Amino acid sequence: MEILTNYQLKSFNTFGVEARAAYFCHIKSHTDIKELFSSDNWNRPRLIIGGGSNILFAKDFEGLLIKNDLKGIKVQDEDTNHVLLRTGAGENWHEFVIYCIGKDYGGIENLSLIPGCTGAAPIQNIGAYGVELKNTFYSLEVFDLATGDINTFNQSDCKFGYRDSIFRSIFKNRYLILSITLKLTKKYHRYYTDYGEIKETLKNNNVKKLTIKAISDAVIRIRTNKIPDPKELGNAGSFFKNPTVDKVDFEGLRAEFPHIPGYNSEANQVKIPAAWMIEHCGWKGKRRGQIGVHDKQALVIVNYGGGKGKDIAQLAFDIRDSVADTFGIELQQEVNIIS
Ligand SMILES: Cc1cc2nc3c(=O)[nH]c(=O)nc-3n(C[C@H](O)[C@H](O)[C@H](O)COP(=O)(O)OP(=O)(O)OC[C@H]3O[C@@H](n4cnc5c(N)ncnc54)[C@H](O)[C@@H]3O)c2cc1C
Repeated sequence: MEILTNYQLKSFNTFGVEARAAYFCHIKSHTDIKELFSSDNWNRPRLIIGGGSNILFAKDFEGLLIKNDLKGIKVQDEDTNHVLLRTGAGENWHEFVIYCIGKDYGGIENLSLIPGCTGAAPIQNIGAYGVELKNTFYSLEVFDLATGDINTFNQSDCKFGYRDSIFRSIFKNRYLILSITLKLTKKYHRYYTDYGEIKETLKNNNVKKLTIKAISDAVIRIRTNKIPDPKELGNAGSFFKNPTVDKVDFEGLRAEFPHIPGYNSEANQVKIPAAWMIEHCGWKGKRRGQIGVHDKQALVIVNYGGGKGKDIAQLAFDIRDSVADTFGIELQQEVNIIS
């Protein structure tokens, strides 16, 4: 396996920022990983990357960056109603969704057009339009970076939450995800159309009979109109998570900010759209040289071209601080910052 040095990462992150990895390699098979594990290169600091759509390089990475290219989609098991489908962690997520729709396997159509690789999907339990990965997740296989063992995690092991899993907390950077297996429907698909503009878009698309393909097409249409395409405008989707607060605290906020939106979340918790708070603080559409906050999506920080990762990180911290000063709520970032 070839180890490249001083490698430019601009095309490996959707912000499109320039950064270098001191060492860089592609892994395409389990043999590649085992070879790497028993080489001297393993002793360097390591970072795994999929599609680079949830990562911000605020500086160069002085270790070994491992690009996961493990491919292959395989039926593990099936019965009349369900299929257990396994995908190599390096498959492109959206192409995987389209593959499933082609086979009429239901459950992930609402997650169409999310950038990145299948192996990163469980890390923040990707979600969109009323569906999260955890709804169809069955298991995943990992390579333990410390011991070289291969282990399996099931649904409850992963401790999925809102944009969260055990791989973002106690097991951060401990494992390389090799493959994930989803349990998808072959019959009696469950359609989620209540969220956002799905119903309206299905109507505009002249859909007479609901299918998973019709939902995917609607989601693709909505997302294409709303979310900037990283190929045209560098970004990593939502930079921050939507915070949740106690109902009592929310009432206090509402007394001060009568228009603040909130949605009932788990018991006694209210979820507040971070975008509203960021906009309220005056950030929406603000530009700082080659970077800024998107003029239609206050949660999305953009690189107009030539922006630096460290400046994007600073802008994010300034947004976080101003939201904290105004509302007393500290926003948690969704994007992984390499600093
Ligand atoms: C335009 C746009 C829209 C988006 N919309 C959504 C959305 O609607 N919902 C949503 O949830 N997310 C969204 N995202 C965020 C992003 O697409 C997801 O988080 C995606 O799962 C990241 O995949 P990736 O392969 O690009 O991960 P990367 O950015 O490459 O990596 C993300 C993190 O996972 C780690 N990692 C990656 N692969 C592995 C692996 N195989 N094993 C171990 N660790 C690994 C990395 O080290 C890093 O910490 C959006 C991003 C963009 C750019």
